[in-house]
This record gives sequence, C-alpha cells and structure tokens, in this order.
Amino acid sequence: MAELQRLGGQNCAYYTRRRCTRTISSEASQAARCTLLEQRRKVGAATMDRLDRLKNLADEADREVARRHVIQKNLDQITRLSCPRYVPKSGAGPLCQHQHLVACLLLLPECGGRCEHYMRRREPPHKREAKP
Ligand code: SF4
Ligand code: SF4
Repeated sequence: MAELQRLGGQNCAYYTRRRCTRTISSEASQAARCTLLEQRRKVGAATMDRLDRLKNLADEADREVARRHVIQKNLDQITRLSCPRYVPKSGAGPLCQHQHLVACLLLLPECGGRCEHYMRRREPPHKREAKP
C-alpha cells in the first residue's frame, strides 16, 4: 500500500525557514532563546545592578569614576560575547541571521509538514522565504 505523505507546512503562519515557531511551552521557548541575546541580557542586568549600588557612594566624584568604570566593563564584556553559529544579517547591524524575535531558529524544531496546528497565513510563501 502506498505511504501517505504529509503536505508541506510552507504556507503555515508558524513556518519560518523550515522551522516551526509555534509556542509549545514556556520551557521549550526558554530553551530556544538566542544564547547571545541571553548573555547580553545577563550582562546588562548585572551592569544595572552595579550602577544601582553606586548610589551608596557619598562622594560625587567617586561615583562618577566608578560609573565610568562600570560602563567600560559592560562594553568590554558585551564585546567579548559570541556565538559559534552567529551569521550577521546583511545591513541590519549586529543582528544574527538565525534570530527570530528572541529565539534562535536553529534551536526550534523543523516543520515536519502540515500538522494539526497548521494555520494558513495570508502572506504568500515566496515572500517569507525570500526574507534573510
Ligand atoms: S546562531 Fe544567532 S540566533 Fe542562534 S543563538 Fe547564535 S547568535 Fe543567537
Ligand atoms: S505545519 Fe505544524 S509543524 Fe509546520 S510550521 Fe505549522 S504548526 Fe509548525
């Protein structure tokens, strides 16, 4: 008997570059977050925390020196962050080609064809496929 084949998911609203961007669970979404963005977020949060603690310094000149030091440290740390799979998005600053909102497409599951969650999108498929 001939094997039944699933229809392609290219016209699905969740389909992006062969990946399924549908939210399955908060745990899965967390696991698929862009690691570079996450690292930047953590460095940024630590910097904000350090800047906040500078308010305890009584001397204004000391505060300013410390503030500059913290900001420089933040820049150094951000510059050192990297992802081995990072591919710059042409003409879009430091954005990565694999980034989809806060997720990494490479960490999302591949669309295995039209499934029960298929949701037809209005935009023609060739337009989405053409996007880098
Ligand atoms: S490949 Fe790109 S989108 Fe994926 S984790 Fe690395 S920097 Fe983020
Ligand atoms: S068809 Fe199903 S697996 Fe494919 S992108 Fe849509 S929801 Fe995801």
